[in-house]
Amino acid sequence: MRWAGLIVWRAHQEAAALVAPGVKTADLDAAVEAVFARYRAEPLFKGVPGVVPFPAATCVSVNEAVVHGIPGSRVLRAGDIVSIDTGCRFEGWCGDSAYTHAVGAIAPRWRQLLDVTRETLELSIRLLAVKQRWSEVAVEMAAKVRGAGFSVVETFCGHGIGRGMHEEPQVPNHVAESLKTKDFLLSPGLVLAIEPMVNMGGKRVRCLSDHWTQVAADGLPSAHFEHTVAVTERGPWVLTGPPITPEEVAFCQR
Ligand code: MG
Ligand code: MG
Repeated sequence: MRWAGLIVWRAHQEAAALVAPGVKTADLDAAVEAVFARYRAEPLFKGVPGVVPFPAATCVSVNEAVVHGIPGSRVLRAGDIVSIDTGCRFEGWCGDSAYTHAVGAIAPRWRQLLDVTRETLELSIRLLAVKQRWSEVAVEMAAKVRGAGFSVVETFCGHGIGRGMHEEPQVPNHVAESLKTKDFLLSPGLVLAIEPMVNMGGKRVRCLSDHWTQVAADGLPSAHFEHTVAVTERGPWVLTGPPITPEEVAFCQR
């Protein structure tokens, strides 16, 4: 799973380097898809079933779009935020990760939304090492978001990941009703895609007529960060994080 995670990391580096005013969201998708092709990795998002199958390797969600935005001809403008979410399968194993980027200079409160969402993901990863159950992590994630005056999106959640992108268990970013019966132990061997989605305004979302793009119902901006993380005896291992060993560094230079 680490190799799949590194390919996803590399794809994010190439897409992030393009983020600038004037760039089309389709350009970000093309950069990701080129990396997957170079490694002969399978894009996991393309063809996901729906009213219409998802048409791209990447979800690109701008401003009030929370997740599942379809890349296309939209041009990024200074002051926008853009979330890039992608995943691949390599040699039978999956990786899934997302980042939200600022396009040029953004408003301070928007910067805070990005920072709080990223820090909420980082907090959850640190807590994997010290908590027994996922609900104990989720409660602290939600408290951090609430403390900043933002809302946790409850409609979507993280997930187990392995040979498939979406596996059990569900990994909510708040203490969901479902956790009362489906809470789980943070045992070595577990691999989770943890992905807080944070709205500046209310938590409600609605789907656009393209059948995919989920937007904040109140039209205020939303941010999303995600990593694929393994729980190990030596602590959490961010599988979609940057290369560390010489072998990993060489793999990312292919
Ligand atoms: Mg994802
Ligand atoms: Mg995911």
